Amino acid sequence: MILVVGGGVSGLSAAYELEKEGQKYLLIEKEKMAGGLCRSFQVRGYTFDYSGHLLCVKDEGVLEWIQDLLHGQMSSFERRASIYVEGSWVPYPFQANLGFLPQELMEECLGDFLKQAARRNAPTATYEEDLGLWLVTTFGEAICEHFFIPYNEKLFGRPLKELVPQGIEWSIPRPSVEDVVNGALGAKNERLGYNAKFHYPKNGGIEEIPKAIASRLKSARFGCQLKKVLLEEKKAVLESGEEVEYDAMISTIPLPELLGLLDPSPPWARRGVEALKWVSVRVLNLGVRRQGISDQHWVYFPEKEFPFFRVGCYSAFGPHLAPAGCSSLYVEIPGHTVRQMGEENCTRKTLHGLVRCGILRSAREVEVVFPLVIPVAYVIHDRERLELLPKISDHLREWGIHCAGRYGSWGYGTMEDAIIQGKEAASRLLG
Ligand SMILES: Cc1cc2nc3c(=O)[nH]c(=O)nc-3n(C[C@H](O)[C@H](O)[C@H](O)COP(=O)(O)OP(=O)(O)OC[C@H]3O[C@@H](n4cnc5c(N)ncnc54)[C@H](O)[C@@H]3O)c2cc1C
Repeated sequence: MILVVGGGVSGLSAAYELEKEGQKYLLIEKEKMAGGLCRSFQVRGYTFDYSGHLLCVKDEGVLEWIQDLLHGQMSSFERRASIYVEGSWVPYPFQANLGFLPQELMEECLGDFLKQAARRNAPTATYEEDLGLWLVTTFGEAICEHFFIPYNEKLFGRPLKELVPQGIEWSIPRPSVEDVVNGALGAKNERLGYNAKFHYPKNGGIEEIPKAIASRLKSARFGCQLKKVLLEEKKAVLESGEEVEYDAMISTIPLPELLGLLDPSPPWARRGVEALKWVSVRVLNLGVRRQGISDQHWVYFPEKEFPFFRVGCYSAFGPHLAPAGCSSLYVEIPGHTVRQMGEENCTRKTLHGLVRCGILRSAREVEVVFPLVIPVAYVIHDRERLELLPKISDHLREWGIHCAGRYGSWGYGTMEDAIIQGKEAASRLLG
């Protein structure tokens, strides 16, 4: 019997494969419903997700599978995203659209980029050691100073010299010198990056995807929390005290949480609990009494005066997500910022920031404020993680535990990655 722990998209996809192949399995999920971070919430006519969750695919097979599950009820979008810097809305990716900056700033960014590109081609090019250095050697100092460094330091709440690029660099578009120069001259480079195109359900929120997968499963228990893993006996102890024997486990719950449940607790697991770090995010979902509030799907905010790092517009993914004549937003604020400022003050400054950049005309337009907390949102990619992760995964596999999903495998990945990882973990066990 294969025990799948966690009913987000990775656990559900793993269970789907096991079900399809007639393998005995049980999926357990601590919440009362499926979906994990892909759940949605209905509040006074608005549908909010756990902040914007848009499906971007590299593997058309994943899209076909989801289209099939949702009977073709998915819409496709060409991304409209930007970065708000010094009062300018620079189309994403910043580094390929410098022509949208004030002239002086554009010249500084382009000049530094070209200097750096020339250096990179020289035989003495420096090799990247930390995320900050990697960004500077890739894009030049000015682009980093105005966007990458303040944005990432705001999100991760620490200097970038403490982070490494491995595991996150795939998400950062690296345009050619020609694209950067053309962008500085005013050409709009919008089709770069993994999320240039995305998909979203035509009805309901992103939750339609996990709901559709869950409806195909015969052996899933919700409201059922894993409390302890008896390693030697291969037994999972549930919150109710019930013990479930397994031959193998697929864990999609946050890795430090799993390590803390192991009994007996091996030294490598204790080391993982101490060393692995993450940041939480508070999502302020807003219902706004005005139609067409923004033509952007989402906007990045690197500047310190804004407590949030990203704002997105749900109602731009489909009018069904907000009542007629209204719009809806998600505002993502790092947990460390909320702790420093206090919740109330942070909400006030957030609304003030939205007015200041022009997304809101006035805070009085907001008729619904629906906050959600993502306690484990972004994994910290530092040297300790890089060193420990392969060792921890090997140890867990020796005990019959296979990790999958963004938090199970403790990385930075999309819904598609989580789906693929869940399916792959199941396929490996099916042999
Ligand atoms: C702010 C933010 C925005 C994002 N936006 C996007 C986006 O636009 N597009 C995109 O593709 N991806 C996005 N992602 C990433 C996406 O959320 C993840 O890749 C995906 O949801 C991970 O799914 P999962 O199943 O691996 O994990 P989860 O969804 O976290 O599922 C894990 C499940 O385990 C359960 N669980 C935990 N502990 C226990 C326990 N002890 N016992 C039983 N169950 C337990 C949890 O309740 C949860 O349901 C975003 C992530 C964040 C944080």
